[in-house]
Amino acid sequence: MKTIFEKSNGADGIGIGVNSEIKLEGLIPKELLREDPIGLPQLSELEVLRHYKALSDRNFCIEKGFYPLGSCTMKYNPKVNELLASLEGFANLHPLQSDEDSQGALELMYNLQEKLKYITGMDGVTLQPAAGAHGELTGMMIIKKYFEVKGETNRTKVIIPDSAHGTNPASAKMCGFEIVEVKSNERGQVDIEALKSLLDENVAAIMMTNPNTLGIFEEKVLEISKLMHDNGSLLYYDGANFNAVMGWTNPALMGFDVVHLNLHKTFATPHGGGGPGAGPVGVVEKLKDYLPSPVIEFDGAKYYRNYNIKHSIGKVRSFYGNFGVLVRAYAYILMMGNNLKLASADAVLNANYIKEKLKGVYELPYDEPCMHEFVLSGEKQHHEGVSTLGIAKRLMDDNIHPPTVYFPLIVHEAIMIEPTESESKEVLDNFINVMLKIAEEIKSNPEEVLKSPQKTPIKRVDETQAARHPNLVFPN
Ligand SMILES: *Cc1c(COP(=O)(O)O)cnc(C)c1O
Repeated sequence: MKTIFEKSNGADGIGIGVNSEIKLEGLIPKELLREDPIGLPQLSELEVLRHYKALSDRNFCIEKGFYPLGSCTMKYNPKVNELLASLEGFANLHPLQSDEDSQGALELMYNLQEKLKYITGMDGVTLQPAAGAHGELTGMMIIKKYFEVKGETNRTKVIIPDSAHGTNPASAKMCGFEIVEVKSNERGQVDIEALKSLLDENVAAIMMTNPNTLGIFEEKVLEISKLMHDNGSLLYYDGANFNAVMGWTNPALMGFDVVHLNLHKTFATPHGGGGPGAGPVGVVEKLKDYLPSPVIEFDGAKYYRNYNIKHSIGKVRSFYGNFGVLVRAYAYILMMGNNLKLASADAVLNANYIKEKLKGVYELPYDEPCMHEFVLSGEKQHHEGVSTLGIAKRLMDDNIHPPTVYFPLIVHEAIMIEPTESESKEVLDNFINVMLKIAEEIKSNPEEVLKSPQKTPIKRVDETQAARHPNLVFPN
């Protein structure tokens, strides 16, 4: 497919039937006028429209098919949320408008803070962070400042399980902490004895995901939180997998002090393609004074932005966060009510259903009941000549987005599957059948699998080349 620059044909793209020759002379000082043409593509409005429609048709999205991308919770985003977020009063409100003129938006943010407090069991919430990783950084900054104010600057270490998402160590490191890895045991959970051996007066916190990235619930979480608190340390909850447990338990009950949620995972707001998302952070009472300012508050008569937070780490995002995402998440929470609990239950049921159907054919390194996702290993198929990458590519020929592959790092040839609650049994059965068909095909005709994807607009790309020498500019 040609780029829009290559398609350029000199047509006038502005408007239909408008015949205005705007004379720039006199409007802009001569020395500021461009001497040469700017080189933008020129096409008619309809040609531009067709170009971008054709591009979007080549893309894969949840509206086109099953998207079992583990750890990402690619659940369905109800379209009514889009309608609400585009209401003029929300979409066109200027962020510098006074509190008085922004009561509706502030009320929505305040109510969302309250709902997230209720759902997580936390005492204070900031809506500012723009993504999960950004929430992690915010949480780590809060923990760092908390110990600084307490005078415990010796607490320089953060413990992170070997199954953790890469953003965890990255966020802690960016905050200046030293990362200490704790091993998982043979059941895919934090090894308590290993953890005990790492504890000393220099440990600031542990960052945990529960259920963890293997889709396994950390059964010893209460023991871990007691160990950490007895050590004077804090616990950070990576809430990326909260879709598995919302309404059933919460990070406060598990003993966590700081938590981020990914609204774009758990609360049905769109993601992929770089966002925007939102990663609100909740904290327990003793950390409320450290939240980024402003926090949205209510004095009984009106809603206002409170900038007066005693030990605030400062702002972490321009204005108040990705407001449009907040509107969508709030709409979803109101729409679901107590059914949030059912969404989690169905997500867990769907994942266990697929796991049980596939586990004889693909290796299941941690054969435990899973939560909302599970991790297979393509080791057997790898020995038969097709690696996990080949399986992922082959799925695309059946209009299925590949699962997450090669993560978590502790599983060889990992295939991480998360169906979410929004899919029907027919969709799950089709996925299972395609996975079984691919396993058969690898035995009988691996060449065919290695040639995949065969039906997509772009076939197999050289991923190393694409990562090392990306060609992102036209003309190059
Ligand atoms: C997605 C994810 C993150 C990062 O969240 P973003 O919103 O993508 O920044 C962190 N931890 C886990 C376990 C995740 O799945």
